[in-house]
Amino acid sequence: MVAPWVVDDRIDLRTLDLAETEAFVRALGQPAYRGEQLWRWVHGAGARTWDEMSNLPKALREALADQAELGTLTVDQVQTSRDGTRKLRLTTRDGRAIESVLIPDGEKLTQCISSQVGCALDCQFCATAKLGLARHLDPGEIVDQVYRARALLAEVEPGRRITNLVYMGMGEPLHNYDNVIKSLRLLTHELGANLSQRRITVSTVGLVPAIEKLGREDVRPNLAVSLNASCDEVRDQIMPVNRKYDIARLLGAIRAYPLERRRRVTFEYVLLAGVNDTMDDAARLARLLGGIPCKLNLIPWNPHPEAPYQRPSPEAIEAFQNQVKRLGLPAYLRTPRGDDIDAACGQLANRAQGAPVVPLRRRAGRA
Ligand code: SAH
Repeated sequence: MVAPWVVDDRIDLRTLDLAETEAFVRALGQPAYRGEQLWRWVHGAGARTWDEMSNLPKALREALADQAELGTLTVDQVQTSRDGTRKLRLTTRDGRAIESVLIPDGEKLTQCISSQVGCALDCQFCATAKLGLARHLDPGEIVDQVYRARALLAEVEPGRRITNLVYMGMGEPLHNYDNVIKSLRLLTHELGANLSQRRITVSTVGLVPAIEKLGREDVRPNLAVSLNASCDEVRDQIMPVNRKYDIARLLGAIRAYPLERRRRVTFEYVLLAGVNDTMDDAARLARLLGGIPCKLNLIPWNPHPEAPYQRPSPEAIEAFQNQVKRLGLPAYLRTPRGDDIDAACGQLANRAQGAPVVPLRRRAGRA
């Protein structure tokens, strides 16, 4: 089997779907049903060792230990914000760092996952953009973020479950289209993590052909679109992707997107003082989005070094929100979570400041 995720001749089982796992196991001379047993361990139980796969014959476990990997990410830092948000830094097999964030909100616990190492889109207000794109994450690296977070939770907050998943970490998920789609299939499979696709959201800068393609898939996550401006002049400046797919084309694709009943598209709108936060912007926004089943998430800009922007004053933010609401848009203010540890929107860039970084092996309760 030749796949980009074969490392040192060993295949990462986290990247394989059920049929591929069955084929892999058959190639080892084992009956196909062993594939399903193995798959449940890898994707359902998030197993970390071959030894714990108690219903598999020893010979198979030995062959697996020899030829396969059980996920390639290691969690090497966990930072906890004063608001309870946790940022995990995970390292890939080739030594790249990615980030994943756990955001508690009452009963809800949302995990924000990365889809790429860095990002190619160059949005001017975003810290991840400054890294450039190192590479795509493979499907195993995407899903392993969830499995590693679950394992961490089992230790620090037993009983707590991840209820929602958002592809809003580092990277542009629709730029890494095939791997993201495969990760969605893996994560929603009933014998795997069994997450509901209604509780998964994929966020995009607005890659129009990929949005059209997503509308034709059998797996149907919620869609979020980072709009961030009310006219092309401003969007061209702050999101270079707009020069390729402008607002009219983007919203055309959204209007044509086959939304299921009672579902809405989320538009994200980062508020930048003096750039996109005027009453004229609010009015244009309401005109642009009129008739689209949607909600607007207003995100006051989260600062990071080397960005020439400012967060609007609380009064300006409130005035903007009131204005778009008056004009008929359901608009929610996304209060920054984890900003003291650079875990908030647009702050993921492998910096470790604020709360002290606790190396995992020194955490209380571990030898
Ligand atoms: N590339 C995808 C997924 C990342 S989601 C996308 O852009 O949708 C990250 C969200 O945070 C986006 O809505 C983005 O517009 C927003 N964002 C980026 N930098 C930010 C910052 N410094 N402050 C607040 N929001 C930011």
